[in-house]
Amino acid sequence: MLKKTSFTLSFLFLFVLSSSLYAQNQSPALKKIIIDAGHGGKDQGAEGLVTTEAQICLAISKKLGDQIGIVFPDIKTLFTRTTDIIPGNKSNKDEGLRYRADFANQSSADLFISIHCNSAGRAPGGWNERRIVDYDEKVSYVGKGKKKKKVVRKIPIYESFYIPNTTKGTETYIWTAKENSHKEQMVSIPEPSSEEDSSIVVPDDDPTIKALRLLYTRKYFAKSYQFADFVQQEFIKSGRINRGVKQRNEKGIWVLHATGMPSVLIEVGFISNKEEEAYLISNDGQNEIVGNIIEAIRNYMQFIQKQKTDKNTTATTQILNSKFDNIQSDDKKVNGY
Ligand SMILES: [Zn+2]
Repeated sequence: MLKKTSFTLSFLFLFVLSSSLYAQNQSPALKKIIIDAGHGGKDQGAEGLVTTEAQICLAISKKLGDQIGIVFPDIKTLFTRTTDIIPGNKSNKDEGLRYRADFANQSSADLFISIHCNSAGRAPGGWNERRIVDYDEKVSYVGKGKKKKKVVRKIPIYESFYIPNTTKGTETYIWTAKENSHKEQMVSIPEPSSEEDSSIVVPDDDPTIKALRLLYTRKYFAKSYQFADFVQQEFIKSGRINRGVKQRNEKGIWVLHATGMPSVLIEVGFISNKEEEAYLISNDGQNEIVGNIIEAIRNYMQFIQKQKTDKNTTATTQILNSKFDNIQSDDKKVNGY
């Protein structure tokens, strides 16, 4: 009888456990996304022939936010800016960058997407260069009388030619691995749930907290890479030139390693390339880019969901196995009697 009760209790326990795991699986993979339109205000970023990076970033970011609202209505979107200003109405670029990071960290979002345009070459569109195509001879004389000498000088004849700025394609950045230590500082450990005692204050330099931070930082790095890769894969499907997932360590990317969440910076195309700039400012081009990012978000959500399910399946299997081990060992005991 006692055995039967413990058996029933075991199954009851498993039932409760699997329902709670099921409930966890049902929670949305993403709840809050921050969309960060690069530059703005006094800081217009790279210049194209007809527009600026800040303007393209804003247009695409707004469309992305609208589209997320339609396709994933459960996801909340937050913007670092929705007008042509330096975010937070700050007076310079650096303050703007700091504001973006602080804004992200205070929002406890699940994903940070920064939109930028790339630029290369000496000038947007292209530039003129000169090359020597021939030489002219210029004759002059030096000296006087018998000492008079003929001097022939070669004068190059130049031809001017135009070099179109042809660099194009997309690339997505994640933060530089060696900057992880900085990211660790910014990583906030998730708040304890209401059932747990939240009155316990753990000092920031507590080794457990440090270890947790490192763990979360690694997790964010892997997730950032995964999302960045999904983004690039979608760009490839649209026939864009894939310049890959990259890491960069410069000031402009500071915002990435200062946010305590998976974060990417998408260079949606080269504003310095005449054709690509036309694509970037066109409705069709912007819609295609937004569509690509939406698909990447969809794939990323599935990836997160699968990770959760796999983890839970493993956990349930482990518990089930250990339970059956116990049942078996109990039976052996019975047999032993
Ligand atoms: Zn930029």
